[in-house]
Amino acid sequence: MNSTPATLPKQAYRHTKIIFTLGPASAEEGMMEQLILAGVDVCRLNMAHADHTWTRTMIKRVREVCLRTGRQIAILMDVKGPEIRTGDLASPVELVAGQLIDLLPQGGGSEDGILAVPVNYPGLGRDVPAGTMVLVDSGLIRLEVLSAVATRVRCRVIVPAKLGNRRHINLPGVKVRLPALTAKDRADIAVGVEEKIDFFALSFVREADDIDILRRVLSEASSSARIVAKIEDQSAIANLDEIISASDAVMVARGDLGIEVPMEDLPLIQKRTVDACIRLRKPVIVATHMLESMISSPVPTRAEVSDIATAVWSTADAIMLSGETTTGLYPLECVQVMKKIAGRMEGSATKGYNNSLPLKTHKDRLLRSAVTLAQEIGDAGIVVFTRSGLLPQTLAALRAWRCPIYAFTDDPVVFRHMLLMWGVEPFLIEFATGPEQCIRDAFAYLLRRGWVKTGDWMVVVTNALASEKTIDTIQMRPVE
Ligand code: PGA
Ligand code: MN
Repeated sequence: MNSTPATLPKQAYRHTKIIFTLGPASAEEGMMEQLILAGVDVCRLNMAHADHTWTRTMIKRVREVCLRTGRQIAILMDVKGPEIRTGDLASPVELVAGQLIDLLPQGGGSEDGILAVPVNYPGLGRDVPAGTMVLVDSGLIRLEVLSAVATRVRCRVIVPAKLGNRRHINLPGVKVRLPALTAKDRADIAVGVEEKIDFFALSFVREADDIDILRRVLSEASSSARIVAKIEDQSAIANLDEIISASDAVMVARGDLGIEVPMEDLPLIQKRTVDACIRLRKPVIVATHMLESMISSPVPTRAEVSDIATAVWSTADAIMLSGETTTGLYPLECVQVMKKIAGRMEGSATKGYNNSLPLKTHKDRLLRSAVTLAQEIGDAGIVVFTRSGLLPQTLAALRAWRCPIYAFTDDPVVFRHMLLMWGVEPFLIEFATGPEQCIRDAFAYLLRRGWVKTGDWMVVVTNALASEKTIDTIQMRPVE
């Protein structure tokens, strides 16, 4: 971190973090470097499409590029969780409305000339009574269950399309009895732990217990990685607060969510989830289709511009790119578009903070005072020192517009966890002995990297010694 190459462009301060998903379009070293220099904060590996060799190669490459550019990003491994899929067909089938189709959860063959499609979930027959809607391939195909026994689920095609191999099945409103972690997930997680990645995102979290299961796996492996709960079905929404409380961060996974709930509910769920996460002080990511049209077009649609602006305005911690950077033609342009919109919206925000955050301790009240003070004395930033990331997490939850939170830590793991927090600009330094020297080091660092100028006012949250006792203080002082 200290050996910043001269080529590193100064990053403009941004409250909203950007996540990109790695794939063929972004995996080349040159493109990866451009994305990192452009300002992405977190790199996501989607394990639904990644094998272990590729995963390890990519993690290594990301770290090499970070080292070379002097700009650090965090790595998030997204494990696919309980997912139901159709199996292989002899060849793709063009379905027609009204046609009958049998889903076979336990093997077997075609009966009465009806098309039979294998499904990878043996318990399906038990979970889908007559009348259940079965959505296949991102909701493109819609089937209605006519009858179900353990070995055969007979459906009628309501909305037809072409059915290919291994298509994803959504069962809106059905509580699927699949384990939270599949064998594949466990194997993926083992690789992530070994490679010391920073975040694990768990797909299709249904209840807080799912998070606890992953938490145990990580603690048994002595991993300090953080857990991101992906909210993508109705059970997750029903158990939202418990899930958020059990997790370290949350993702509004709009791709599956938009199939699992009535689509008109999506914006409300997004807003409600973002607000709940802020209240519970957990970082929240808005994901999927943010710049979908830019997979094949160099410019976004006006609706996409507004969607990103809405997420920024709602103070989501991070916005995410998926297909746009995995297979899209314009990965770099997508990051630039996100940055431009976030910068414009943030720049137009008037000062103010989240004064409805429930404060629990005197330390919380001290942090709120730091925020109000910083906002009252011009464009002051806050300098905070942390070994756990907890103080910056609370400062972030206070959502103070136009008030950078410069968070200094001596722990590289905590440093990377803070990359996901709204408004937090983390720095990794050695802590000097004594709070005063720490503050001087922090100011010198900010000056050297061009984040502040001599004479800028800062509010510093720090320990101080008072008659041999360590007390929490806030100080107001100019950078010198
Ligand atoms: P996925 O999750 O890309 O792993 O499906 C995100 C979503 O469903 O939105
Ligand atoms: Mn999903």
